[in-house]
Amino acid sequence: MRHIDSRNVIDAVAKLCMDANRYLPEDVRQRFKDCAAQEDSPAAKEIFRQLEENCQLAADSGLPLCQDTGLAVFFVELGGEVSIDGMTLPQAINEGVRKGYQEGYLRKSSCDPLTRANVGDNTPAVIHLDIVPGETLKISMMAKGGGAENMSRVTMMAPAQGWEGVRKFVIDRVAEAGPNPCPPILVGIGMGGTFERSAILSKKALMREIGDTNPDPRLEEKEKALLEDINKLGIGPMGLGGKTTCLDVKIAMEPCHIASLPLAVNIQCHSSRHKEVIL
Ligand code: SF4
Repeated sequence: MRHIDSRNVIDAVAKLCMDANRYLPEDVRQRFKDCAAQEDSPAAKEIFRQLEENCQLAADSGLPLCQDTGLAVFFVELGGEVSIDGMTLPQAINEGVRKGYQEGYLRKSSCDPLTRANVGDNTPAVIHLDIVPGETLKISMMAKGGGAENMSRVTMMAPAQGWEGVRKFVIDRVAEAGPNPCPPILVGIGMGGTFERSAILSKKALMREIGDTNPDPRLEEKEKALLEDINKLGIGPMGLGGKTTCLDVKIAMEPCHIASLPLAVNIQCHSSRHKEVIL
């Protein structure tokens, strides 16, 4: 059994929160450059220039990429041979969020849904935990802003609606969202499982690298086709029109009940902030 001191988890999580909010992943920045080169519209090109400038300013100054520094969402893989000493893993992650958002001067966005009073420390973290074989602890953090999350949806489709129904729901959702989620967006799709599982799948799908290949060739083909169709909507960067409404589409799928077709669409804004650490 390998022992990890909870203080190491706290420090690692605090750093993840700060780094994710300051440094946009390289695959996102590279996709900005590639898409900017394909745009004809001066407005779209200018938006991409500003996005790149914003990334550089954040990285150089240590200021967050966006004023909305998000709720802290975690996908955690805890090795079965690992024991966390001092605190439970959720306690340590929440402590890390408190520390990271405080020391990084990141906006605390968590509030009581009834009174709207700010919780004050951006907790509780949203933690999705998987137990896996091995002796390591992998923590992946996503800072999820409200603008894009508000545009996300879960639906229970009739199985007979099939892929055509799924395709239409996703495209309608993006069209309806328009400029609200700060495009160009990423679209995470969760198909199957149950009501709640589809939502988790759709968000986890957004942790994949832009431009990677879906291990399921059927989904790889559908991701590409959906990306093309979404970009034909012409919403464009920041909704000002253009060829790039969406940077990438990611689909995750699991078996579902014979009577159901759960479907979730999780929209992520251009500020796709996520980072991971392995302890
Ligand atoms: S949707 Fe994203 S880019 Fe827009 S305000 Fe929210 S976090 Fe910032």
